[in-house]
Amino acid sequence: MDKQDECLSTFIKGVMLMVDFTAPQEVVDAISSIERFIEQEIEPLKKKYHYWLENERNFYDENGLYAKEIQEAMREVRMRSAKAGFYNMFGPPELGGMGDVFGPVAIAFIYEALMKKYGLDPLVMEIFPGGLFTGGLTPVLLGLHPEVKEEILPGVASGETLLCFGLSEPDAGSDVWNIKTTAVKDGDYWVINGTKQWISYAPYAQYAMIFAVTDPELVKQRKGGITCFLVPFDGKTCVTTSVIPILGHLGGRIGIISLENARVHEKYIIGDLHQGFGKALHGVDLGRIVMAATCIGVAQWALNKAIDYANERKTFGVTIGNHQAIQMMLADCAIEIYAARNMLLHCAWKMENQEKIPVKEISMVKAYSTEMAQRVIDRCMQIHGGMGLTNELKLEKAWRWARSQRVPDGTTEIQKRTIARRLLGGDRNF
Ligand SMILES: Cc1cc2nc3c(=O)[nH]c(=O)nc-3n(C[C@H](O)[C@H](O)[C@H](O)COP(=O)(O)OP(=O)(O)OC[C@H]3O[C@@H](n4cnc5c(N)ncnc54)[C@H](O)[C@@H]3O)c2cc1C
Repeated sequence: MDKQDECLSTFIKGVMLMVDFTAPQEVVDAISSIERFIEQEIEPLKKKYHYWLENERNFYDENGLYAKEIQEAMREVRMRSAKAGFYNMFGPPELGGMGDVFGPVAIAFIYEALMKKYGLDPLVMEIFPGGLFTGGLTPVLLGLHPEVKEEILPGVASGETLLCFGLSEPDAGSDVWNIKTTAVKDGDYWVINGTKQWISYAPYAQYAMIFAVTDPELVKQRKGGITCFLVPFDGKTCVTTSVIPILGHLGGRIGIISLENARVHEKYIIGDLHQGFGKALHGVDLGRIVMAATCIGVAQWALNKAIDYANERKTFGVTIGNHQAIQMMLADCAIEIYAARNMLLHCAWKMENQEKIPVKEISMVKAYSTEMAQRVIDRCMQIHGGMGLTNELKLEKAWRWARSQRVPDGTTEIQKRTIARRLLGGDRNF
């Protein structure tokens, strides 16, 4: 092969790599192993905890917390998943995870495949840490002091210890610079006071990653001044005061954290002092990829139900799939899922193959996939008529879940703000 042929061959290989949308073999194998794990390890748990899993009145206790049986079932899934090697498969290798093998592309394929097959099964969803960047071997923990790593990583990796990510507050959601929680230095310790709101897993976690103002002057100049601390829930100075049920649920997993003179040693700072938004937010992109892949998988799960129903249900002497109005809805669902799926894969590919983080593309994927999921599930409910509104098919639960995804990890409007700012700043290619 002469030099010119070699160049051409490299170019063709590059192009082929860019347009190859097949899942890598290790990902296909991982999906099969996880499905086997679900069959062998989770299905028996589902039978054991059927009473609590099947009815929302049993799923939550009178305070809106998961019933203790549900908490136990979830814990068992996490521990079994960790033992089987799944719980930490997307974590950074420096912490003992396998994120170097299973990066964003693998995340996209694996989450999509599982959600498509199992929908929003609460036990299947515990196989991986919630949110990925907020729990388990999250990249945020790369910023821990070595002694603290030694103290908490074994529990986190085994699925026993849960973490939560405490950034938002009553007066600071999109506008994170507006947080009011403060940390004041006292010798080798920091004393933290404030309230965190909407925090996923707060009612169940043992530690919270708490963002607090450590230098108000730097905050005013938007140059830093916010630090991330690992704070244990000690039942006195750092407590979850309540669960926030949303969208008609009888309970939930988001809560309010109250910090009253919580004292933590300076070694519990995550990342650098005053620069909490730097290292501590590292990994937020993965969370958005997970959210998008979950939305795409759940949308396919719903569409499959709608297709089956359209082929069975008869009105006016024919199956409803014969009515053009139903056909249009099915087609619109497929178009949107296909678009979201290809966007996600391309963005995940960019994350793995480009040096620069594809910031606006990640925002596009998060915004589009979450909005798409709600539109798709809504149509699928409509195709089911009255049945779609019952909780028997779990479509309405999926609709409520999809509705909630448009807010956390940056609302749709904030994602669009990011995209527009990048475009206006000269980042025009995608
Ligand atoms: C289910 C769920 C889980 C969550 N989990 C966590 C968690 O684990 N940890 C955590 O820290 N937080 C968490 N949050 C909080 C979440 O990140 C915030 O709710 C979100 O950032 C929006 O903030 P907000 O609710 O204060 O709304 P606001 O910021 O007050 O926004 C109100 C409205 O104004 C719009 N808006 C605001 N600013 C702009 C702008 N500049 N341009 C255009 N529109 C704008 C918003 O899009 C929204 O429509 C969670 C929230 C939910 C619902």
